[in-house]
Amino acid sequence: MAASMVPIFSAGRTVRTVPVAIVAAPGLGTNDTWKVELTRIIMDLNIHLRDAMDVRLKIVSYGNLNPGPSFSREAGAAHPPFPSSSPRDWLPSFSDLPWPSAKSERGILIGLVPEGPDGPADPGIADYLNGIIVLKYLTAKDGMPFVLFHEICHLFGAVDLEEKGSLMSRTAPRFRPDAFTASIMRANRDRSFRRDVRPLSPEKIMEAVSLYADRQSLGLGEWQLGICLKKLRAMIEPGLQVQAPRQGQKAP
Ligand SMILES: [Zn+2]
Repeated sequence: MAASMVPIFSAGRTVRTVPVAIVAAPGLGTNDTWKVELTRIIMDLNIHLRDAMDVRLKIVSYGNLNPGPSFSREAGAAHPPFPSSSPRDWLPSFSDLPWPSAKSERGILIGLVPEGPDGPADPGIADYLNGIIVLKYLTAKDGMPFVLFHEICHLFGAVDLEEKGSLMSRTAPRFRPDAFTASIMRANRDRSFRRDVRPLSPEKIMEAVSLYADRQSLGLGEWQLGICLKKLRAMIEPGLQVQAPRQGQKAP
């Protein structure tokens, strides 16, 4: 599909194309089934991402963490956890990788790791600032679109919520973003994934701070809101005042 192709239903709205690089950890098998699987999942998710915030993902690179055509040198610097376990343990192995595609700006890097001894528990993690997702290559592939969609939302500012029926719900999730999640993702829609600049413009940081603070004032115990507020406020120059939350500035 051509990058410039915009469907008729979104006439007048521009769709942002975000490059995606997928890097597979050792232990995913020697064939390339994972490439087919991830390509299919991302094609499906693009429908939902376009609906939610006019974003589509475009895979620009596939690679392997251990010696391979595009990562032979970099792999020497990576230290995969042994025995391999949670996505959090894997994260440092992907954090220092250079962006593998010379043809595109930096986008989202997805590290694909084996399910490991914990099985499908704790299936993914997102590193907002660095634009990295570590995703388990689940035995039950049906679960992967949900996990990847959830983690992509985190990269666009979403947090885990006490909101039944939302993709970001901690206890009763469903396959759709709630209104708060959609609004914070829209504020993050044009975020940068580059390492040398802040992810958001000062205006968008203030918009996001305001959204998080309003949500925090509901007092639902959504502790990730406090972490996001702290990170965003630290990005704003001293002296530039932002709207204070109505209560509880600290994460519990
Ligand atoms: Zn989450």
